[in-house]
Amino acid sequence: MSTVKDKSESETPHVLIFPLPGQGHVNTVLPLAELLALSGIHVTFLNTHHMHNRLLRFTGNIEARHPNLVFETFGDGILREPPVLSRKMKEGFAEVESQGMTKLRELCSERSGKPKVTCIIVDAFLGHPTSNLGDELGIPVIHFRTASGCYLWSYFNVPMLFECNELPIRGEEDMDRVITRIPGMENLVRCRDLPALCRGTREGTLDLDSVVFQAHQSQQAKAVLMNTFEDLEGPVLSKLRDHFPNLYTLGPLHTLLDSMKASKPPTSLSEEKDRTCMRWLDAQPPKSVIYVSFGSAAVFTRAQLMEIWHGLMNSNKRFLWVIRPNLVSEQDGGVLPMELGEGTTERHCIVGWSPQQEVLEHVAVGGFMTHSGWNSTLESIVAGVPMICWPLFGDQPINSRFVSEVWKIGLDMKDTCDRKIVERMVNDLMVERREEFEKSALAFAVLAKNSVSEGGSSYSNFYRFVEYVKSIC
Ligand code: UDP
Repeated sequence: MSTVKDKSESETPHVLIFPLPGQGHVNTVLPLAELLALSGIHVTFLNTHHMHNRLLRFTGNIEARHPNLVFETFGDGILREPPVLSRKMKEGFAEVESQGMTKLRELCSERSGKPKVTCIIVDAFLGHPTSNLGDELGIPVIHFRTASGCYLWSYFNVPMLFECNELPIRGEEDMDRVITRIPGMENLVRCRDLPALCRGTREGTLDLDSVVFQAHQSQQAKAVLMNTFEDLEGPVLSKLRDHFPNLYTLGPLHTLLDSMKASKPPTSLSEEKDRTCMRWLDAQPPKSVIYVSFGSAAVFTRAQLMEIWHGLMNSNKRFLWVIRPNLVSEQDGGVLPMELGEGTTERHCIVGWSPQQEVLEHVAVGGFMTHSGWNSTLESIVAGVPMICWPLFGDQPINSRFVSEVWKIGLDMKDTCDRKIVERMVNDLMVERREEFEKSALAFAVLAKNSVSEGGSSYSNFYRFVEYVKSIC
């Protein structure tokens, strides 16, 4: 990669990157920080102390590898605890916003003693207060959207859906009604496939109005960055560009970083990577295992977990299941059913955490049962592994619809967690319709890899973005 050694220090852009301090968000944005640093740009990565310490455990001395990349931290009180789920999410989010903005202001001030910040890249969840601060200080603000294009486009259209009476959703019996008016997605999604907040529930501090506001707010940003690629979401991206003309697709970012060959990014910021499952996988026949994992934040009832367990057992297929200790909801006692303790048998392996990207690339893995988080979806696409989707919140319901109906690389189990359905879907994915899914999954894997290779869309967009950052410096 080219560097800008010929420029004087004062002319070098200094980008401050501020992700939401959650696993999925930091995982996505860190490769971008590394890529920019490798391009000779000064980068400051702002994170909570807690997430930063976890990150250091998995990246080794990342600062030493990238002289241009500096980490700054904040986070007292509630932010000293693990990233917040359920009960504490609301308070945690408010603290990130208030403590984060104070730190951001300090880092951007002329008196910080560091090279002047010339641009801020912020997680779109924090876009509004950051754009205000940027306006006040005269620093351009760019929004990073870590979720899919179809998610952003759905929320963007929510006001129009209310105007033409396609929203609200009128109860359970309305869930299969087809949404006809989203441009580029006409008749493609049912009410149940819309991003989860359209159902009228809240997610911690988030409600429908605030997410729709955030979607529209990104129009105020100087540019919008997305972790997706043109061959995956082309039609939706072209609609988005009517409203976000300066939109750069850079995904899949973890593969872009690999391809531009820096160091491999961490695959996970959670507990020590469990290698037991890799040894177990090594002993399994090719494509015989279904990998089951629901990301870093999803919680289940005990009853749901038992339906999945029985469905997997009855399918007679081998499985590797990641069961985080906090996978059971607190309302349900927070205690895992006995059957789901960590351990291995000939047919299955249960671990508390896995090196997911490596698992998905393993020759023994033939399918992925996932919650359809965007990172997991992209990682599965890159590895060419077909999916069974059990989406829960956020962008997951729309991602899973695209997996099954647009990309045709898996099955969408959505909303009915029943052992018979699990058993049938595992058999469909791994046996009955295996060839069909494998063929389309492998085709998308090729497209993903092409997009981050020299001349590919994400590869070229990254260089265009670097030039843009220099131009606004
Ligand atoms: N992950 C992992 N090991 C696991 C489970 C998840 O490394 O056992 C990683 C996974 O590779 C992905 C991230 O955690 O990068 C989860 O992000 P995603 O967007 O899929 O879901 P979220 O956790 O944000 O709901």
